[in-house]
Amino acid sequence: MGNKHLKKIYQILSETYPTFEESDDPWSNNGLNATPFKTLTSVALSAMTHDKRVVKACIALYERISTPQELLELNDEELRECIKPVAHYNRKTKNLKKMCSELIERHDGEVPNTREELMKLTGIGRKCTDIMMHFMFDTPSIAVDTHVHRLANRLGIVDTTDREKTADVLNEVTPNLYKIHAHEWLIQHGMKICMAKNPKCIECVISQYCQYFQEKKSS
Ligand code: SF4
Repeated sequence: MGNKHLKKIYQILSETYPTFEESDDPWSNNGLNATPFKTLTSVALSAMTHDKRVVKACIALYERISTPQELLELNDEELRECIKPVAHYNRKTKNLKKMCSELIERHDGEVPNTREELMKLTGIGRKCTDIMMHFMFDTPSIAVDTHVHRLANRLGIVDTTDREKTADVLNEVTPNLYKIHAHEWLIQHGMKICMAKNPKCIECVISQYCQYFQEKKSS
């Protein structure tokens, strides 16, 4: 596996899509990543949920709390009511409370800045950790969500159903020059063009380098 045109792919994507900083990013505009704690909480809430719903939940939540201590002062019903727009809000209510207790007990209420400690927090997996390391702690890492995972498979960069493997490979093969914004370009392409159902291959700017498209064309 692997795609020998990876540099070219990144070059084209970088010319096609803005970075989050250059775009009208709803997370930044609504303070979802205003502090490491808010970023961690927002990312934890975002699992399996459309961005619009995450933003709605986070606006309601951050009107009431800014720290782990303040979150723990909400009772379960109050917290649930704030985060109701996101999927699995019952489970996420429990997980957020546990995570906040862990932040207070182990890290004096601060968000740890190492992979190891982030991964030990309740509700925080590989994708959340990569996002935190990348956006909050200046350690370039490509976070892999469902869109990036699908795209990497179709392009032929990986051949796996395991997102963690996709993250490992992408982080290994992506040239440093593109690593800082790779996640941002890949996710936009996955959401806007390379959708799960009916990808818009005819409009796709990287179709000539795409394994899925080339195989479909020759079959
Ligand atoms: S050619 Fe089609 S499958 Fe390949 S990256 Fe573009 S949209 Fe996705």
